[in-house]
Amino acid sequence: MFIEYIVGLSGLIAAGLFIYGLKAMSSPVTAVSGIVTAGYGMVFVVGATFLNLFNVSPDARPHLLVNVALAVVALLLGCLWTGWRGRTVQMTAMPQMVAIFNGMGGGSAASLAAVSLLSDHATSGLHLSVTIVGALIGCISFTGSIIAWAKLDGRMRKPVRFGGQRIFNAALFLISLVLGALTVMQYGTPEGVLPGILFFGAALLFGVCMTLPIGGADMPVVISLYNAFTGLAVGLEGYVMGNPALMIAGMVVGSAGTLLTALMAKAMNRSLTNVLFSNFGDTASSAKGPEGEMKSADPSDAATSMRYASSVIIVPGYGLAVAQAQQKLYEFVKMLVADGVDVKFAIHPVAGRMPGHMNVLLAEAGVPYDMIYDMDDINDSFATTDVALIIGANDVVNPEALTDKSSPIYGMPILNAYKSRQVFVIKRGSGTGYSGVQNPLFFQKNCTMVFGDAQAVLSKMVEAVKALGTA
Ligand code: NAP
Repeated sequence: MFIEYIVGLSGLIAAGLFIYGLKAMSSPVTAVSGIVTAGYGMVFVVGATFLNLFNVSPDARPHLLVNVALAVVALLLGCLWTGWRGRTVQMTAMPQMVAIFNGMGGGSAASLAAVSLLSDHATSGLHLSVTIVGALIGCISFTGSIIAWAKLDGRMRKPVRFGGQRIFNAALFLISLVLGALTVMQYGTPEGVLPGILFFGAALLFGVCMTLPIGGADMPVVISLYNAFTGLAVGLEGYVMGNPALMIAGMVVGSAGTLLTALMAKAMNRSLTNVLFSNFGDTASSAKGPEGEMKSADPSDAATSMRYASSVIIVPGYGLAVAQAQQKLYEFVKMLVADGVDVKFAIHPVAGRMPGHMNVLLAEAGVPYDMIYDMDDINDSFATTDVALIIGANDVVNPEALTDKSSPIYGMPILNAYKSRQVFVIKRGSGTGYSGVQNPLFFQKNCTMVFGDAQAVLSKMVEAVKALGTA
């Protein structure tokens, strides 16, 4: 009784730590402490679960000991693998790591459902139905996240589409539902086994089929959606297992993921149904690209222009993360500010490869938050700004999103860098952005390319401003 009380209380304390941690993660200032707090919550509740060992009759203890040994092995393997990956992962590979970890959460929820069904854990029709719904969502999140991982990791470069795909997907979803219903209705009978197995297979396959046709530019919405799915599946299975900590943690993740999905969809100016079912944005339609020539300049010329400008807006993108040039960039910015230039950073909500990617990079370099502006707050300022400096960004400044209906990014709001008097773009070559389309901005009269790795170019720009001396 006492142990039951302690385990129950630990779940409540852990849930409190999760909620506090999540709140702290909403600001870059407190984000690290938020992650650590939520981590403590997880350690606490996992540790307390082992107390159940002392809460069973002596007869049942040997059986439970086997389960505990299996759990310890799983924990050790998980801790070693994630500890190693967490330490060694490149910042640029974080999004795909998040995708795969999210998939593991969905897979765990689906496994819990399978174990619950196999062990006759379900006690009522409602219980069974919740188990099946959680399993369906968990399976979709598991295989969908694996496909998202493959896309983010560059292993799957093009959306996979075929004629009648939407009808095929709808039929597969319907079949999953029917098999799920049959599993519930025939539960506990030998006839219920086959529909149960087929249900899991169909749900896993649906996760794959649902994600295959989605274009690269829509991945931010998809990742957030699967995050919400995993949370929901975990919450539902928490109900099935009668575990309040799991329920609360799942619902917190589910609702945070849902809000993030809504924010990402808004940032892309797309409805969720449009992202999931429109098969929009086949890059082939816009593969022709703009015509004309790109002009280029040396880093020192670009740096000199900015040193004598009165206002500069910097647009960071994925390439800044690849080059890990955030420290050099801030060194350059501090020199401009010391010389009286008004410098601001403009952040697009889907710049980089994960929500908040650019904010994290700039925070890491120590850029003050009052220099960083969200898209809606700064977009009107580009037209009256001397220089827009684009560093490793492409899709988020592509004016084609405003004009070309066949473009994969059509409708996505962009940072209006193209309106500035002068635009400098630092990138290595004429490569396209994540969506695979060329950017007409780079061919505009007011645009000059500064070719090279962002780290190398910014180092040269710092040297050039140093050579000019202070104003
Ligand atoms: P982007 O469109 O992917 O463009 C990045 C550019 O950086 C490339 O054109 C590349 O050109 C350049 N680059 C790469 N390495 C570089 C280096 N070392 N130095 C200098 N430049 C370098 O990036 P974005 O403008 O940030 O747009 C983000 C895209 O990712 C959007 O399409 C968005 O939908 C998608 N996405 C976002 C998320 C999210 O949650 N934020 C998740 C998934 C997908 P070169 O090769 O010529 O150098």
